[in-house]
Amino acid sequence: MILNELVKLFEGNKEVIRHTGWVITDPKSYEWWDGFDSADKIVISAFLVQLTKWESVKRVIGTLEEHGLAKVDSIAELDLPTLESYFRPINFYRTKARRVLNFAKFVKEMGGLNKVLLLERRPLLLTQEGVGEETADSILLFAGHQPVFPNTEYSRRVLGRVTGQEMKKRDLPNFVYHNVQQDLYLYKILHAGLGAVGKAFCLLTKPKCDRCFLKQVCEYNYR
Ligand code: SF4
Repeated sequence: MILNELVKLFEGNKEVIRHTGWVITDPKSYEWWDGFDSADKIVISAFLVQLTKWESVKRVIGTLEEHGLAKVDSIAELDLPTLESYFRPINFYRTKARRVLNFAKFVKEMGGLNKVLLLERRPLLLTQEGVGEETADSILLFAGHQPVFPNTEYSRRVLGRVTGQEMKKRDLPNFVYHNVQQDLYLYKILHAGLGAVGKAFCLLTKPKCDRCFLKQVCEYNYR
């Protein structure tokens, strides 16, 4: 089955995948998310990365950590202007500061991240400003270790080309759910690997198939 073949290829190309920000490691580690060591950092960065370079996000997370603020419950105690000052290197920093602060207060009211990052809380997560389906499912999977597969443009494009099937937005999670067992490690490595290939090789207009490590199993490459 193609997804199992992809998992093997991703495992054999960990270093290439690492260069795009993903770490293939234990299923219950936070380090998948570019080596981060906490659910809090994953959640905060998931808000910040929208329309922003990842390097800027990492710098801001580092600054928050230096000030003892890389935790959602610490952020909930800040006022908005203070949080804005930390987020200044980020695009749309005022909007994102408001969203992160509101989310931090919501998490505090709910009793902590471990009470929020649960699959049954997904509908509630989606009511929060700045939390769309992709963000919700990404933080549920990587910060909450919940078995859900995020529906991303990279994954749809790469899987669509590899399988030679049009992969519509509504098709992707079901394709994964029907073709691999429910398993945190498999969902994480597939998301990370597809994202890495989408970012490094499988570009929208001119995919770099000659350099891509999926070329031997990819229908698009044999057209
Ligand atoms: S071989 Fe080409 S089309 Fe296939 S996944 Fe790689 S870059 Fe994309």
